[in-house]
Amino acid sequence: MIVGPRSFDDRIAIIGAGPSGIHMAYRLKELGFRNIEILEKENRIGGRVFDVLHRGTVQQMTFLIMPPDYNELNQLIKEYGTGSIQDVPEATVDFFAIARLLYPEYTRGASDTELRMRLRREVIRYSILHRRLFGIYIPYLMQRPRNARVRRAIRGTVSQFLRRNRMPLIETTVMYFYQTLFGYQQPHRVSAVYGLMWITPKFCHALLDQSVPLFSFFDSGLISLLQTLIHNYNIEIKLNTDIKRITRSRDMQNGNVQIHCSNKFDKSRTFIEYYDFLIVSPSMRDLLNVMDASPVERMIFSRQITDTYFISSLIDSPYGIKSDRPNIAHAKTLLRYDFEPNVHVDIFAMTQNYSGSTFRLGFTPGGYDGKRILSSVYYQLGRLDPRIPAVGLDAEHKLRRYMIQMQRIPYSVIARFITPYHTRFSVSDMDKGIIWNVLDLQGHKNTWYIGASVTYDTAGAVIQYNNRLLRNYALPGSGYRAL
Ligand SMILES: Cc1cc2nc3c(=O)[nH]c(=O)nc-3n(C[C@H](O)[C@H](O)[C@H](O)COP(=O)(O)OP(=O)(O)OC[C@H]3O[C@@H](n4cnc5c(N)ncnc54)[C@H](O)[C@@H]3O)c2cc1C
Repeated sequence: MIVGPRSFDDRIAIIGAGPSGIHMAYRLKELGFRNIEILEKENRIGGRVFDVLHRGTVQQMTFLIMPPDYNELNQLIKEYGTGSIQDVPEATVDFFAIARLLYPEYTRGASDTELRMRLRREVIRYSILHRRLFGIYIPYLMQRPRNARVRRAIRGTVSQFLRRNRMPLIETTVMYFYQTLFGYQQPHRVSAVYGLMWITPKFCHALLDQSVPLFSFFDSGLISLLQTLIHNYNIEIKLNTDIKRITRSRDMQNGNVQIHCSNKFDKSRTFIEYYDFLIVSPSMRDLLNVMDASPVERMIFSRQITDTYFISSLIDSPYGIKSDRPNIAHAKTLLRYDFEPNVHVDIFAMTQNYSGSTFRLGFTPGGYDGKRILSSVYYQLGRLDPRIPAVGLDAEHKLRRYMIQMQRIPYSVIARFITPYHTRFSVSDMDKGIIWNVLDLQGHKNTWYIGASVTYDTAGAVIQYNNRLLRNYALPGSGYRAL
């Protein structure tokens, strides 16, 4: 069982108004907790989820796709969402062209039909292996492997795991394309455990069964859902809060947790708030300098790393041209992480369910206003922080070169969102089971650690992690677990 707030009247502080913080506040309110406050440093909610309404379409600049394991987010959308969940139309991706590029020896002489058969065999083997390693899949963090054989089997990077198990086509189709496309995985740099969390048996099933959609999306955008939760559950959020110091101690008279904050725009307005319980949603590593971290917290969380950055740009342009080999061009840029624009998404086309060749590269009517303009979100992924001027300029230059190549000029950038991505633990720490050590630490010093840095960096995963914590926590006074 996990230790948590002791009474429904406990004052609970949640740091961060991203999906995990807001979802946790909503769940606690729903369970009957009365005193919850979210402290957010920015002047908006949503964290790394960023939506822009443009030309009558909610342009989802970050969070967009939902794989088949997003049961709990899907349920939430069905209950509180004001739009609808739709299948992502076929994106005309030629996986086998990518496989031929990456694995010339393995694919030489094989027809597409032969490669499809091989992929099928690999996927079936992967599914069986996953179940053998972890049993019934718990999204998005499987049970801690207790046995040395399993620990050995899951060590190393995603690529090493797939190569050990002779699954090159899964590596190309699933890992390189789907994961790297949105930055979820960098198979040659990220622990196999993260890969096993994301590539689920259900996802594999969808890959084989054409009648099951591989991905869906919510056409009103996640921000609208978060706003509904805030409104319906009367969730209090203090925006623009700069946290100066967090002290946790049982000896304080007014509560176990003392937080010194100031208003971001009026530094003279500092205040001290007392709470009984603390829930931290951003990376704990980023808070270590303001927090009275215990040696064990310091040891675990100082090891978190963030070495990837995303730039998403909403751009209006003419339609331009189709590249003759778009997928290969993508595969090459995907592997470089140097801000080459690696993909763009035409959300208007998706909401209108344009599919097949019309969807490819956004060759569709571009908006409800009927103008011959393509409004698309372009993603750039890299290892250096684009807020450093030279890096930002280089990224801008690469985007411009791409737009010229695609003859989408003149173009205008309507909105831009830059963010770090995929805070995680290193391969060797994951080999030692550090992500499960965090789970064991929950409740330590009256604190829960939630959010993308302690599970998998997707909105679906953070919601399921919250629910898992709550399921393992006995509600005050009752001994009952929260469902
Ligand atoms: C380009 C891109 C595409 C993505 N696509 C998808 C997708 O298709 N599907 C999917 O499921 N997920 C996707 N994601 C991931 C998803 O956006 C994140 O996993 C999700 O936002 C994590 O939620 P969170 O609440 O844990 O963290 P965050 O969203 O990062 O929220 C943390 C919050 O804490 C606040 N904060 C930080 N430090 C402090 C502090 N010191 N004091 C107060 N507040 C603080 C931040 O301002 C922020 O509001 C994508 C992300 C990116 C960048």
